[in-house]
Amino acid sequence: MSIKINSKIYTDYLKTVYEKLQLEEDYVTSLDAATGDGDHWSNLNKGFSKLNEELTQLSGQSLFNLFKSIGMTMMSQIGGSSGVLYGGAYIAAAQELNDVEELDLSGLRDVLKAMLEDMMKRGKAERGWKTMIDALAPAVDALNAGLAENEEEAKILREFKDAAINGAEATKEMEAVRGRATYQANKGKGCLDPGAYTMALQLSTLAEILLKQV
Ligand code: ADP
Ligand code: MG
Repeated sequence: MSIKINSKIYTDYLKTVYEKLQLEEDYVTSLDAATGDGDHWSNLNKGFSKLNEELTQLSGQSLFNLFKSIGMTMMSQIGGSSGVLYGGAYIAAAQELNDVEELDLSGLRDVLKAMLEDMMKRGKAERGWKTMIDALAPAVDALNAGLAENEEEAKILREFKDAAINGAEATKEMEAVRGRATYQANKGKGCLDPGAYTMALQLSTLAEILLKQV
């Protein structure tokens, strides 16, 4: 395995997500305005802009401390459901990391699985309920399947990215069981879930950064 993720690579990833988010304000806000309260982009951006200010300091931390710091920043800065969900997930991921200093793809799978499980538990949400989980869960499945079948890392990463994007896209046809879209008469059917879209944005950015290593 040649893919490696350390604190430096992960903070490069945070910076790239922040930069990409700056191009997505109108679109993500319109998604959340359609089925929610329109604040999802600004919530997420608060967290990522704070992280972006701290990159130099964060990149020198151990992976455990980095994930814990990201979790605490997200919990305190983001607000809304996504702040609690991302914050809790990063803190759960830190516990999974323990004293590991470098992740390969199977380590990444374990970390993302811990995040997924924490989000599902904290949000009391299942797959197919039109939330950010619908982008994360299929991406974790794809990573798992690719590793189990000993596929090449580039192929695994492309499948991981596609699964996240297709998972987010699939929320369009789902009826919401969690989140503000449940307040809509049609449960948001026909609209993409904003949280799933931004989750896919983050996961596909991670895949693109790691693909540069293979
Ligand atoms: P809020 O809904 O509090 O305004 P945001 O707008 O930041 O918070 O985030 C909305 C997104 O959070 C939704 O699009 C959905 O993906 C996700 N979400 C909301 N509630 C839950 C939940 N209980 N479990 C998982 N994800 C959720
Ligand atoms: Mg909102």
